[in-house]
Amino acid sequence: MVARMTDAMATSVSALEPTAPTAQTALAIETRSLDAYFGSTHAVRDVSLTFPQNEVTAIIGPSGCGKSTLLRCLNRMHETVPLARVEGTVLFHGRNIYGAGVDPIALRRHVGMVFQRPTPFPTMSIRDNVAAGLRVQLGERLDRRQVDEIVERALRQAALWEEVKDRLKSSATGISGGQQQRLCIARALATAPHVLLLDEPTASLDPLSTQKVEELVYELRSSMTVIIVTHNMQQAARVSDRTVFMLSGEMIETAPTRALFTTPSDARTEAYVTGRFG
Ligand code: ADP
Repeated sequence: MVARMTDAMATSVSALEPTAPTAQTALAIETRSLDAYFGSTHAVRDVSLTFPQNEVTAIIGPSGCGKSTLLRCLNRMHETVPLARVEGTVLFHGRNIYGAGVDPIALRRHVGMVFQRPTPFPTMSIRDNVAAGLRVQLGERLDRRQVDEIVERALRQAALWEEVKDRLKSSATGISGGQQQRLCIARALATAPHVLLLDEPTASLDPLSTQKVEELVYELRSSMTVIIVTHNMQQAARVSDRTVFMLSGEMIETAPTRALFTTPSDARTEAYVTGRFG
């Protein structure tokens, strides 16, 4: 992607730019002794986890166990909540995102995020919604043709291009909820992230739209690392390579998805995946 940035932005982005893959950088993200708080609520407790490149990792566990908070620590969204704080380390391609000099806005270009409910900007067109992240994160220096190319690529990647290509100038609120969610995925993809964080992305969608998003998640792994929070165990089983099970803020177990669901090593994981609590 041709993108010209301000000097300051270029410095902070290049500080996070992945280097050629080595044994060390085969991990997209790693957490070490990560704790997250909302005031006195200790939401994530001493979590050490690795997220391999080009794999889909699902995070499962009962409501309130800290899935979403853990996810939001991975691109420094957690700290946007008043009284929220983080302790420990998150390495993105081996570099600490909580280290000195890391610009969270630049980081989020590499580690994009999509939320539970579609959040299109209601006053913007479909095209401008996809381009919105480019303007905020790269400055206003791309010309119209470059932006159009990036928008088309992101919409194709999000499997939405064919459905909206004839109404790119229409309002983003005129499309269905499922299309709006894929539009939000396209918006996140427009900055060519290395990691995509999905926080229950199908929670508000009908079954057909859910299927489309799941197919998309499955395909995106060829070009990026995906981490998806879901309360739906069938969804985790369908889309992920690895699964992480959390309980009361702790990471209880992580394993290849099939192994976690069929031969869990912790009794609490087994109780959860067999539906004995939830
Ligand atoms: P999950 O995603 O597994 O449902 P969350 O990460 O949302 O769990 O929540 C973990 C804990 O943090 C819960 O006890 C929840 O009540 C608390 N929590 C979540 N969001 C906030 C917030 N904005 N302010 C205060 N506490 C919060």
